[in-house]
Amino acid sequence: MSPAVSREGIALDCPAKINLLLRVGPARADWGGRHRLDTIYSAVSILDRVELRPREPGSGFRLHMEGEHLGDLANNDADPHANLAVKALLAMAQATGHQPDVAIRIIKRIPVGAGLAGGSTDAAGTMLGLNRLWKLELGAADLDEIAAGLGADLPFCLHGGLSHGSGFGQVLEPLDPTSAEARNLRNAGLTGRLLIGAYEDQLSTAQVYKAFDAIGPSPGDLNDLQKTACALHPRSLLALDLARRAGAGPAFVSGSGPSVVAMVPHLDQAATLIRLWREQNAVDRIIEADSPVLPRMVPLRVTHG
Ligand code: ATP
Repeated sequence: MSPAVSREGIALDCPAKINLLLRVGPARADWGGRHRLDTIYSAVSILDRVELRPREPGSGFRLHMEGEHLGDLANNDADPHANLAVKALLAMAQATGHQPDVAIRIIKRIPVGAGLAGGSTDAAGTMLGLNRLWKLELGAADLDEIAAGLGADLPFCLHGGLSHGSGFGQVLEPLDPTSAEARNLRNAGLTGRLLIGAYEDQLSTAQVYKAFDAIGPSPGDLNDLQKTACALHPRSLLALDLARRAGAGPAFVSGSGPSVVAMVPHLDQAATLIRLWREQNAVDRIIEADSPVLPRMVPLRVTHG
């Protein structure tokens, strides 16, 4: 790398999201077939690390993924353009006239294709990181506009924290932690310590919404997609049954699944549920986390030797 190119890069810790409530309306032709949503997003403390480093002018981008559970991304070496972080880089370059001469390194900890918005948060981290790396000083409205074409969860991931979402997920109203609505979520046991039961296999968001159109919403559940996700992935249903048996707090499928979330305010509930999930092989991986996490990702400067 030429000395003219700074070795200084940017690193961000990018949180996963869960939906504390997910109401799904009909698909709309004028929204490209996307469904109307009424949801409460919460960022959770499972963090992908995204690092961005400038490359020699004219040399293009590089993508490097690390992690033990890369899902279908493990085969993506051949086509890095399919990676949402790369799509975000190219969209930012196009919108601002910069060359996409950037090395992206992602340390993946968020389960892939799991309903936890791992791809969207990597893309949001890439956008916020480039805003700093390229000294763009784009505001929230500019970033939202660039993000609009890239995925329904991306606008929330740019803002983080706790937020009401409507439209197809892109219309956000942040929830103040002291508001009555946030207090109701706490009283309902929907904030704090949780366990995520994750799987090696994935559910495609498009496949779940298509099946939802035939199956319909789940009366009584916090997540309208739950019945559909469990029909496509029966181990998620078993994991939810075991959460009830363990006496855990509210338990639900995360987004379009297949991951399940169980609130565990008490340590003994967590211990019982971990034992039951393992004994009955109801999940492949158990991750402990907290929700909601601090709003906004903070780009940190890092120097690569
Ligand atoms: P959502 O909750 O937003 O529906 P999800 O958690 O179900 O998303 P992701 O983990 O975002 O799903 O992955 C969905 C698909 O996106 C995967 O099949 C994967 O190949 C692709 N993808 C592209 N880039 C990434 C990335 N950086 N991280 C994870 N998945 C990615």
